[in-house]
Amino acid sequence: MSDESGFQGRQIVAPDEFTSESVADLLVKIFSAPEPPLPPPTADTIFRCSYMPRFCARREAIAGQEGISQEKLVIDDESSRDPDMDLADIRFAGMVGTALHSVLQNNVLHDLLLGRWECVTCGAVHQNDEGVKFGVFIPKPDACGRQSGPRGAEMPCEGRRFVFAETRFRDAEFGIEGQPDGALLLTRRDGSKAILEIKGLTHWSLTTQRRDGRLKWEYEIQGNLYLHLSGLDWLAGLLVARNMEKFKLSSKDRALEVMVVRRNESLLKKVRGQIATFRNAMIHGTLPTRDCLTDSCDKARRCPLVKRCFELPDD
Ligand code: SF4
Ligand SMILES: [Zn+2]
Repeated sequence: MSDESGFQGRQIVAPDEFTSESVADLLVKIFSAPEPPLPPPTADTIFRCSYMPRFCARREAIAGQEGISQEKLVIDDESSRDPDMDLADIRFAGMVGTALHSVLQNNVLHDLLLGRWECVTCGAVHQNDEGVKFGVFIPKPDACGRQSGPRGAEMPCEGRRFVFAETRFRDAEFGIEGQPDGALLLTRRDGSKAILEIKGLTHWSLTTQRRDGRLKWEYEIQGNLYLHLSGLDWLAGLLVARNMEKFKLSSKDRALEVMVVRRNESLLKKVRGQIATFRNAMIHGTLPTRDCLTDSCDKARRCPLVKRCFELPDD
């Protein structure tokens, strides 16, 4: 195969011979293509909800003060979970997760889902313009009818297909932002609605989760941040097995599990406090104290800056 295959500028150059090896090699190149690095964290950084379970005020402050990119922190952290995964594997797994979300939002749950909806025909986004937070979400429209096309009122859009449009909620003072996967129209007896969070898990991790009977603390933190951003009081975590060969809906070993997260004010206060500690350290050029007692505790073993953290003074 040609050594020239892969990315050249923004063009993808196909291999001379199409064999499974050359195509796999090309895909690895595509999935490892460089992206502009995320800058090091600063006192003004708004963190993604999904990042917060791994947040450490000291780690972010070291990265911010020593110019280490945020992306490097995430990639190193991800790969430390499975040393056989390289950048291409991590990105590919992420895209499979995105595809799973899209199918559930647009082909399975669409009639039960509140969200913002983009018309496939004209691109108009339908939402409740008066709404704030969760209030912008609406059920999927039946027809578009927008008069935004070239012929205006004379020929309103006849589109009837819509896709779920991600919505970013942000609380700059808290320092977080996130894109919930929608809200469910399934209401409880008291009329409250649930924000929806979809998680694609390996069959093994879904089974472990089911055995433990409660959401992992990572999801509990992320879920509570979505509750804070959406203003709702409960979250339905839809856990779905990613390994389709094990897909069964109705057996004991089913591929779906629903877990509920309720608002936990003390957890939210703790996370808000961690971000405030980091910001304070960045403003004053100091370092937060070390959380990890040894460099081999669970948290330290997953921390890409563990070596630097233990070299620096802890005062
Ligand atoms: S080793 Fe522990 S305390 Fe130090 S930066 Fe990493 S996670 Fe934070
Ligand atoms: Zn339309």
